[in-house]
Amino acid sequence: MNDLELDALLDTCVAFHGHLCMGQVLGVKLALQGLALAAPATPRDLIVVVENDRCIADAIQTVTGTRLGRRTLKLKDYGRMAATFINTTTLRAFRVHTAYTGTCDPHDEAAVRAVLHLPDDQVVAWQEVKTHLKPEEMPGKPSRVVECCTCGERVFDGKDTVTAAGPICSACSLGSYYTLA
Ligand SMILES: [Zn+2]
Ligand SMILES: [Zn+2]
Repeated sequence: MNDLELDALLDTCVAFHGHLCMGQVLGVKLALQGLALAAPATPRDLIVVVENDRCIADAIQTVTGTRLGRRTLKLKDYGRMAATFINTTTLRAFRVHTAYTGTCDPHDEAAVRAVLHLPDDQVVAWQEVKTHLKPEEMPGKPSRVVECCTCGERVFDGKDTVTAAGPICSACSLGSYYTLA
């Protein structure tokens, strides 16, 4: 990819994300490295697991074409600037993280954009990994749909726990992020 194409790709990310930031630049570099390593034949052959839900997540989604709602983009919120790129045909997976140690004024757009054109090994590093995604986490039809014996709502993809009383959802069994107002 030449410099013009690289800048155009960043512009696409900025349009989706809403502003130019270091996260978009690092996300583009990370995603391109991950795509080069995983080398999916088509976008359907790729799953990306992103490790935070900040700026880089939007750039990675934009560059790779993966989507949360298609189960091709997954969030494991470790708060790290990293993502793993899984080729679902070859089953090879590569975890790419940021290795950028420079400092630049986040409000200096030219300086931020210049990081895009640094050599890849100054910005990202990677390792081949084995992932432990379960079959029920893969794209495709839901493997299991049950009704929670407590709240009565449907629970997809084996996210329930089976109890003597019947299947129960995680919110009912473990407690949830909300309470009724
Ligand atoms: Zn941002
Ligand atoms: Zn429930």
